[in-house]
Amino acid sequence: MVTTTSIALCAAIVGLWVWSHSRTLGVAWAHRRATSHFGVRDGSFWLTRAGDWPDRDTARRVAASNPSARPILVARWFRREVQQVEQSRQFLLDHAAFLRRRLGATDPEAAAEAAGATAVRERLREDVYHRAAGVPGVPIVSDRPGDLRRSLGLTFERGTASFLTRDPADGTPIYTPPTSFSATGIPCWMPLALFAAWPLIAAALAARRARTRRVRRRRGLCPTCGYDLRATGDADGRRFDRCPECGTARPAPVAVALPVETGAPE
Ligand SMILES: [Zn+2]
Repeated sequence: MVTTTSIALCAAIVGLWVWSHSRTLGVAWAHRRATSHFGVRDGSFWLTRAGDWPDRDTARRVAASNPSARPILVARWFRREVQQVEQSRQFLLDHAAFLRRRLGATDPEAAAEAAGATAVRERLREDVYHRAAGVPGVPIVSDRPGDLRRSLGLTFERGTASFLTRDPADGTPIYTPPTSFSATGIPCWMPLALFAAWPLIAAALAARRARTRRVRRRRGLCPTCGYDLRATGDADGRRFDRCPECGTARPAPVAVALPVETGAPE
């Protein structure tokens, strides 16, 4: 049972490990004003926590976006581009509003401008995905790279960043206000080694237990607790059929039976 479980876990980890180099897989959840991510990415499991958001709603929105196992940090130049895209988007939206005021709510030109504003954001998002090392996830924007520390094979990362989420009104990608985050990376080989060693250790322990029981049985001792059963019996010399110490049933006589094993005198 233990062996089957750990073999299944090992297979699952190997699968995720391979998968994590081309994709990212994870779950995200919000609690109070923070968001947590757990997932696998680039050969490691990542536990990420980001907060404090200005409100619980933002925490939920970040959790509801495509969850990434690890924030993708992008450079300062990227922030400038985001601002430029934001400005051009705002310009298109303002112009669409201006056209609607003059030509009516159903003006096709205004609709085209509004659609252009959405397309600008979509293109930006694709661009971020493309440039942030290829693996799709949740790109975040940071003024500077995170503070990275490695210890005992684990990676610890901290920093301040904006996370990509979606506008609740129209679903277009938007960036949250900058917030602090911390991430811990556990390389896939660590849990793999643990679950691979588990059945080996269990087998070794079982073999040792079986050997002890065999030796005790041969010597006429209780196989469970080692109590000497050879001299065990009541005042009339009748044999107990259970160990008086722990209650284990007396084992059937083995090939090398001892004289007391013959039972009470006739
Ligand atoms: Zn016993």
